[in-house]
Amino acid sequence: MSADDSTPGYPWYREGLRFECLRCGRCCTGAPGDVWVSEEEIRALAEHLGMTEAALRRVHLKASLWIQARLREKADHDCTFYDAAGGCLAYAVRPRQCRTWPFWRQTLRSPEAWADAARGCPGMNRGRLHALEEIERCRREDGLPGE
Ligand code: SF4
Ligand code: SF4
Repeated sequence: MSADDSTPGYPWYREGLRFECLRCGRCCTGAPGDVWVSEEEIRALAEHLGMTEAALRRVHLKASLWIQARLREKADHDCTFYDAAGGCLAYAVRPRQCRTWPFWRQTLRSPEAWADAARGCPGMNRGRLHALEEIERCRREDGLPGE
């Protein structure tokens, strides 16, 4: 049997993938979405912004019954930390979900899923070639809920 994309150890992106963020802000704005944050990330964000954790939760997190917290969105669905002039106001401590894009489990599921995601992100398929090892590390730690 020959190795193919479904063979363990032979993902379709084994030769690496190109990505370079152009800081266009598309992924921080526009359509509604969820940015999940862990307790550790909440502490880091509060410290970075000089706020108490309680204030950060009140101002920057969605009120919800979900087990894991999510960042609040503005009325136009821009991320709570997005600033049109300065970009991400929490860039140094942005959540794992933002740091690991586009190497998420869901975008790496298939070449088609990757191509679909690339339609909304002009930084995909250009710039630096990211090696398999780095991609896999991001995929394992993408910060998204679920398996
Ligand atoms: S959409 Fe892609 S290129 Fe634009 S800011 Fe987001 S990650 Fe960077
Ligand atoms: S935390 Fe920063 S990088 Fe992540 S979606 Fe919000 S503005 Fe964008």
